[in-house]
Amino acid sequence: MFKEIDDLYVAGTYKRFPVEITEGKGSVAKDVNGKEYIDMGSGIGVTSFGLCDPVWQQAVIDQVGKVQHMSNLYYTEPCAMLAKLLCEKTGMKKVFFCNSGAEANETAIKVARKYASEHKGPEYNTIITLQNSFHGRTITTLSATGQDAFHRLFTPMTPGFVHTPANDLDALISLAKEVKCAGILMECVQGEGGVIALDADFIKGAAAFAKENDIVLMIDEVQTGNGRTGEMYSYMHFGIEPDVVSTAKGIAGGLPLGATLLGEKVKDIFGPGDNGSTFGGNPVACAAAISIVSRIDDALLAEVREKSKYIFETLKDAEGVESISGLGLMIGIKTVKPASEVVAKCIENGVLCLTAKDKVRLLPALNIPFDLLKKAVAVIADACKAE
Ligand SMILES: *Cc1c(COP(=O)(O)O)cnc(C)c1O
Repeated sequence: MFKEIDDLYVAGTYKRFPVEITEGKGSVAKDVNGKEYIDMGSGIGVTSFGLCDPVWQQAVIDQVGKVQHMSNLYYTEPCAMLAKLLCEKTGMKKVFFCNSGAEANETAIKVARKYASEHKGPEYNTIITLQNSFHGRTITTLSATGQDAFHRLFTPMTPGFVHTPANDLDALISLAKEVKCAGILMECVQGEGGVIALDADFIKGAAAFAKENDIVLMIDEVQTGNGRTGEMYSYMHFGIEPDVVSTAKGIAGGLPLGATLLGEKVKDIFGPGDNGSTFGGNPVACAAAISIVSRIDDALLAEVREKSKYIFETLKDAEGVESISGLGLMIGIKTVKPASEVVAKCIENGVLCLTAKDKVRLLPALNIPFDLLKKAVAVIADACKAE
């Protein structure tokens, strides 16, 4: 149908599965042949309330009927109201809006560099990130990404980034004393790195060290944010107070939106001209995000944790499963068979899953109905078994 046209005309940056999706409702996607799939990937954690969720859809339609875009030289209501909502839900003080996770991280890096430059001197510009991290595809966020495989073809990388092993606090601290450190950037659960939750002691220790030394602590919540791990943001599991939180993916339920949340220490770091984005704070994307973020409440978060528990308990001892990792509805399954074979088998049997490194990755919609979740988990368990 359109697969052949796509293969001819779209740049070959994705290894697509041979599935042509035309529509969907909630956690069920339909292909060109009318075959239905339970969606356990939600567009890599983007469609937080599933496909064509009615509340989200109405919010988008209403805003499209009012004003679809205005320059950031003027005020629009959804942008203001979303920033207020995010600050109320986190205790952060101000928000910069952009269009993607990479841009939200670029903004975080700019915040750390400007803050350190003003408070310690311009030579304090090094950002520490973790090995096996993922922070985006722009040249600078690739430099931040602690995986050499991503760098190789695109050197030279942006200078000013050093990587240290996750969960080794002594190594982090000695590196921070060795370089002129502006900030520390990390994910609490490394998503693309294989859905690996960091140790609580490491996260708390890093946060305490950053605070004592006036180093800007940036948590990359692009994938872990917006209810995904069973808290509004994953850092909330650890009782820490980051200076900067970057997020994107699930925030607007399927429209492009990135946000960089600024804490007390850095809330006034930006003045006019220091950063900007033509589409940042777009009213349709922000109206969509309000319809999502306002529904991430304690009841939904409890549901996320309950569904997570079900998946962990059902799959941890299943045949063909070596181990299971992650937090909330962000789950990695190390399988005996290659992950790609398990995913192919799931597609055959009507379930869409993702991979991360050598694992099968699950990021279902936060509101996936329990009956669909059970069906999908049964299909996944079956696909993990030896032939
Ligand atoms: C996906 C992701 C990014 C990049 O987001 P884009 O919207 O693709 O630019 C950055 N950080 C993390 C942790 C991610 O999962």
